[in-house]
Amino acid sequence: MAQEDYYKILGVDRNASDQDISKAYRKLAKKYHPDLNHEPGAEQKYKDVNEAYEVLHDKQKRAQYDQFGAAGVNGQAGFGGQGAYGGFGGQGFGDFGDIFSDIFGSSFGGGRRRANPTDPVRGQDLDYTLTIDFMDAIKGKKTQVSYTRSETCETCHGTGAEKGTHPITCDKCRGTGYMTVTQQSAFGVIQRQVVCDKCQGKGAIIEHPCQTCHGQGVIDRKNTIEVEIPAGIDNGQQLRYQGQGEAGRNGGPYGDLYINYRITPSNEFERRGTTIYTTVPISFAQATLGDEIEIKTVHGSTKLKIPAGTQPNKKFTIHGQGVPYLRGGGNGDQITTVEVKIPKQVNEKQREALVEFVKASGESITPQGKGFFERLKEKLSGEE
Ligand SMILES: [Zn+2]
Ligand SMILES: [Zn+2]
Repeated sequence: MAQEDYYKILGVDRNASDQDISKAYRKLAKKYHPDLNHEPGAEQKYKDVNEAYEVLHDKQKRAQYDQFGAAGVNGQAGFGGQGAYGGFGGQGFGDFGDIFSDIFGSSFGGGRRRANPTDPVRGQDLDYTLTIDFMDAIKGKKTQVSYTRSETCETCHGTGAEKGTHPITCDKCRGTGYMTVTQQSAFGVIQRQVVCDKCQGKGAIIEHPCQTCHGQGVIDRKNTIEVEIPAGIDNGQQLRYQGQGEAGRNGGPYGDLYINYRITPSNEFERRGTTIYTTVPISFAQATLGDEIEIKTVHGSTKLKIPAGTQPNKKFTIHGQGVPYLRGGGNGDQITTVEVKIPKQVNEKQREALVEFVKASGESITPQGKGFFERLKEKLSGEE
């Protein structure tokens, strides 16, 4: 478990707004995404950033984190459940006793009341990375996403007890899920809060477990939902699907599903935000004399006027041919750079024309290599 400061990881200060946190998260998630960043350590950074965001974007978890630090958040997530919650912070139950003693023992003298394990707990949020085609991100579409999540058992409605029976309050911990143990140490008597070993912290005992869920109250199921790819969605952006995360405990609501969009690059177009960048080759003659050419856009094609005397690498802005704005109201721009192509080879006719061009320009040039002029000489001297 990272002991680093979550605010530091996201590069925001402690008073940062939810918006600032989301913004910082999106930026860093994109920067360190394992599919995009292959530098050593990037994957760990990506995990840290996600862990920090997981906590700081949730009002309740953030408040707990501000008060107790990482242990408070992770302890809370693990408390009152097992299995489905094991993923958060990667802890087993064996650690909780120590964490609680750290929080409640040292900071609060052991006198603090904590949440009842039979209180409703909201389900975990889930993340899903949806890789989409470059053009789908421009045009937008609907797609289906399937993933496994825990769902409330329909047989027992989440109680974990067989039909007609109910979980009974644990007599060892009186339903609190934890016990206080007293230890003698070099510094005197230390009171530690440990998870009740009879009910594993649940505060209740199921005498007749539900056959469907084996007393867990939840079952893993494949969930399929229709997901929107909004026209204009960008790499690293996120959509939240409320209630599509993991099942809650003790009647608590489902968590949310976060769809993280990852867009495959295009061979033809480069995208930065809502701007599309392309290059188009034009000839020396087109650049010199001007022309009207057809260029590709993400929406099809459009005409581009090349003025006479266009210089190499000149950039043309084509308004409204870029990526649709996510909130509607039009598109960004396309910026097309012209590459003036110098012919690698010319035929006889072109050479003659160029010689004429040179003469007309009043230039005097010395062509290099064995080429036209040498062969011209040969021709004139009748040696061919
Ligand atoms: Zn059940
Ligand atoms: Zn107990």
